[in-house]
Amino acid sequence: MTLTARAGIRSKLPNVGTTIFTRMSRLAEEHHAINLAQGFPEFDCAPGLQALVDKYLKLGKNQYAPMAGVTALREAIAKKVYEASMKEYHPETEITITSGATEALFVALSTVVFPGDEVIVFEPAYDSYVPAIELNGGIPVFVTLDPQYQSIDWQEVRSKITDKTKAIIINTPHNPTGNVWKATDMQELAQVAELHDLIVISDEVYEHIIFDGRGHISAASVPALSERTFLCGSFGKTFHTTGWKVGYCLAPAGLTAEFRKIHQYLVFSVVTPFQYAIAEYLNEPQHYLELAAFYEKKRNIFLDAIKDIGFIAKPSEGSFFQNVSYEKLSEEHDLALAERLTKEVGVASIPLSSFYDKATDYKTLRFCFAKNDDTLLKAGELLQKKKW
Ligand code: PMP
Ligand code: GLN
Repeated sequence: MTLTARAGIRSKLPNVGTTIFTRMSRLAEEHHAINLAQGFPEFDCAPGLQALVDKYLKLGKNQYAPMAGVTALREAIAKKVYEASMKEYHPETEITITSGATEALFVALSTVVFPGDEVIVFEPAYDSYVPAIELNGGIPVFVTLDPQYQSIDWQEVRSKITDKTKAIIINTPHNPTGNVWKATDMQELAQVAELHDLIVISDEVYEHIIFDGRGHISAASVPALSERTFLCGSFGKTFHTTGWKVGYCLAPAGLTAEFRKIHQYLVFSVVTPFQYAIAEYLNEPQHYLELAAFYEKKRNIFLDAIKDIGFIAKPSEGSFFQNVSYEKLSEEHDLALAERLTKEVGVASIPLSSFYDKATDYKTLRFCFAKNDDTLLKAGELLQKKKW
């Protein structure tokens, strides 16, 4: 009997290949292209934060952290969230440190999704949500938004809810569109979630990267939501440390207890000295409050660098990402164009179709502007030179 015939290697994710982020980063490397594809900062994290890691490595904080996370970090998160959202999360029972937001999202979905359960997913959607639903036997139910969408059609959301709907996933500021939810959206969400008794999974990894004076409205700040929400966050975005994979999940004690049953067997605990370092670094709020202005400047540099090309670009409201529509310039499929721009022009991006279930092509590319100013200017120059 050949190996492929054995039930053991039947794929649980038959429609999934290597992620678009890995593929485009690889292509960028092969062609020495500027990588505005995968979302990660080009610059290093602060020397002060590195020194703290060094301090805790040398202090011997090198064995397993507590399963739920280092107490100092859970306390620092509780304080930070209280100051921003007036919501008390108890460090002992309601805060868990995870291996990035990816683990938090995966565990939250695994905690609540049983076979046959439906989960409302707004698309375009970050790529890890759907596999996490499907691996648990759940069914994603999509609310499809145009990449340039102006507002959410809550009537449509309501129409997608059935007696099988268990949860709804939201993400603000949003990857990939850069849109930010308004207070009215959070209120609508609270009404829908309460009426249908839904669990909310709120991906808030870009909470501090928000522009033009907008405020981040966390699910933590809306009492009707926080009581039914797994709030997933990450220090990867906040401290330019995507490679550390330190994130967290905030949820009421009952939900957290079930969440930890899965977390403890998935990773048990998360890298110890980094948790101590982040806990101490969080003492100074300026370290994350300055992020919005820092990235707003980069968004503006990028928008300015591409302004004469003929793209349609609604300025990103938050996140690392600027979407551009090239519908006035080319008919080419977005994946083909993204690949060609990487190979021929030397600038890598992510085609928006990768964030849609049916790979719908809206003639839109996502560019990551978490890069040095020179890199953004150079990318603009290269895109400008291309004959469209
Ligand atoms: N959610 C969104 C919307 C993201 O963009 C990312 C990663 N960039 C994650 C979750 C995962 O975060 P982490 O790297 O902390 O696992
Ligand atoms: N979140 C990053 C992005 O959207 C990529 C993370 C990853 O490569 N998995 O580009």
